[in-house]
Amino acid sequence: MLKVNNLEVYYGAIKALKGISFEVKSGTIVTLIGANGAGKTTTLRTISGLVKPKAGTIFFKDIDITKMEPHMIVQLGVVHVPEGRRVFPDLTVKENLELAAWTLKDKNRFKEKLEDVFELFPRLKEREKQLAGTLSGGEQQMLAFGRALMVDADLIMMDEPSMGLAPVLVEEIFDTIVKINKEGKTILLVEQNAEMALEIAHYAYVLEVGNIVFEGPAKEVKEDPKVKAAYLGA
Ligand code: ATP
Repeated sequence: MLKVNNLEVYYGAIKALKGISFEVKSGTIVTLIGANGAGKTTTLRTISGLVKPKAGTIFFKDIDITKMEPHMIVQLGVVHVPEGRRVFPDLTVKENLELAAWTLKDKNRFKEKLEDVFELFPRLKEREKQLAGTLSGGEQQMLAFGRALMVDADLIMMDEPSMGLAPVLVEEIFDTIVKINKEGKTILLVEQNAEMALEIAHYAYVLEVGNIVFEGPAKEVKEDPKVKAAYLGA
């Protein structure tokens, strides 16, 4: 579904991605793990079209999206849940979800989607009219996730959904990722919480200062002694 080839990204003179290649197969959960500053967020921002690469290509469903504008990439079916769960704080929960649905042309489809999101996150339904800025961290993460689900996307990219959340909420969010995946969405998950990410992913890539240094089925990556020592606190 997604093929990234030899991607190089610079911020001025700093080379943040040094020619990375990876693939996300349709129907799978793929995780990209790595320490602070490894380039995980940069990778997602580049796929979304927010950062332009200096070299390399990105193909989504065999379409070259490398140079496409972000809004076109969303319309093709790639949606990004950014780090720090950015929602519009001064709009209500429902308004946040409405705004996210701009790619939907059909009004009925919008209602269906809204019901799906509320079924998945009943807590958002209860807080439909509450201003998003007054939601708890976990609820804001649910809303950010819900916004992504309002778009008819096939590939959902999530940047550190566990960040700053209590363990029980992290579990809830990860359960939801698994559920969404079982319903047919393909997921690219960026995480510092390697333990949890490897638990739910099918395949994993390890990123270290702009390079992919290791990859394999998540189960195998989890058992690798080097990965264990560096990322799993073993
Ligand atoms: P974290 O888990 O801490 O978010 P990350 O793996 O997501 O880390 P990135 O945010 O992609 O890492 O950053 C990769 C490198 O690029 C870092 O060295 C960072 O300082 C640098 N970088 C990121 N954004 C910019 C920017 N806008 N300008 C300059 N340097 C940047």
